[in-house]
Amino acid sequence: MDHRPFEDWLLDNPPLTTDQKYQLNTHLRTCSSCAALAEVNLALKSVNVAAPAMGFTDRFQVRLAARKQALRRRNFWGFALLTLSVLGLFLRVSWPVLKDLLQSPVNLLASWISSLASFWASLQAIFRAGMVLFKVVPGFVPAYIWAVILFAAGGWSLVWVVSLMKFTKYPQGV
Ligand SMILES: [Zn+2]
Repeated sequence: MDHRPFEDWLLDNPPLTTDQKYQLNTHLRTCSSCAALAEVNLALKSVNVAAPAMGFTDRFQVRLAARKQALRRRNFWGFALLTLSVLGLFLRVSWPVLKDLLQSPVNLLASWISSLASFWASLQAIFRAGMVLFKVVPGFVPAYIWAVILFAAGGWSLVWVVSLMKFTKYPQGV
């Protein structure tokens, strides 16, 4: 088979007349070799279209470097922002505890004073109750009963005060 004009046409890509185009197409339908050449030509043409312009590589590298730098900068700011937001969130969440921690001397003193006052008030109440009992209940109650009652009251108030102190050591919000 003679591929002469068709091969040249395919390789040089000259302007073809309608008749020449028809001949080429007819030949391509019957000749696999020229059809393959035409296909390669077509592929090369599309590659040529997509081929980079002059200085593209340099520009690409410059742009890549800039992009990398921007990415690094963005990473830095992202990291900083993340750190700040985590820190802020941590502060926001733990603020009540931190506040208590900062004010803990005052809080401790206040809780001590309040528990002392409660202790004093309960002592007074017990004493008054004892006086009432002493006045109302006649002397037939043996002395050891009084001792047991006093002992029990003392032990109870001691336990109460200790538990109160333990409770006030951990203020609300924990
Ligand atoms: Zn051919």
